[in-house]
Amino acid sequence: MTPALQAIDTMAKRTKSDDRKTRARPKIERPSRAEVEAAFRTIIRWTGDDPDREGLLETPARAARAYEEFFKGYDQDPVAILRKTFEETAGYDEMVVLRGVRFESHCEHHIVPIIGRAWVAYVPNGRVVGISKLARLVEVYAKRLQIQEKLTAQVADTIQEVLEPQGVAVVIKAQHHCMTTRGVHKHDTDMVTSRMTGVFRDNTATRQEFLSLID
Ligand SMILES: [Zn+2]
Repeated sequence: MTPALQAIDTMAKRTKSDDRKTRARPKIERPSRAEVEAAFRTIIRWTGDDPDREGLLETPARAARAYEEFFKGYDQDPVAILRKTFEETAGYDEMVVLRGVRFESHCEHHIVPIIGRAWVAYVPNGRVVGISKLARLVEVYAKRLQIQEKLTAQVADTIQEVLEPQGVAVVIKAQHHCMTTRGVHKHDTDMVTSRMTGVFRDNTATRQEFLSLID
C-alpha cells in the first residue's frame, strides 16, 4: 500500500461521516448569453489583446459554449440519477466497485481544470444501481465549480443517502492545474482525498479490500 493509501486507511478509522447536505443546487438567477460573451470580451481586453482581431472575434461565443459544457452539472439532479434502483439482487451483498473513472472538473478558486480519477464503492443493502450511474454521479458533481474535498464528500454522501447501503467509499486522485501550470508550478503532484462510511469505516478488512483495488 502506498503512503497516500496508508494515510487514507488511518483517516478512515478516525473520521465519522457527518450529515452535511452537500447536494443542494444553488438557486441563482442567471445572466444572459450576451452578458457572458461581453464578460469574456472584457477579459480578453484585460489580458492586453484585441477582441476585434480576426482570431478572437468568435472567442467569446466559443468560450461561453465551453463553459456551458464545463458546468452542465448544475442542471442535473444527482439524486434522480441514483433513484432507479434494482432490488432483485439475488441477495448480493458484496462490494460493488467502480474503478478509476476519469473526470474533468474546475477548481472553484481559479476556474482552472482539475483532472482526476475516482474510485467509488458501496456494499448494497438490498438495492443496487447500474454501475454507469456511479460514473454519471461523479460527472454531475465534477461539472461544477469544485474543490476536491467537496467533490469526494458529495459523491459519497449522495450514494449513502439515496441507496442507504451498508457503507460507501470514495477515493479521488487528481491533478490541479492551479498547482501545475501557475503558482508553485508543481508538476506531477496529485492530491488524494477520501470519504468512507459504514462498513468501510468500521471494518478494516472491507476497507483494505477496497484500497487494494486502487492503483
Ligand atoms: Zn485552484
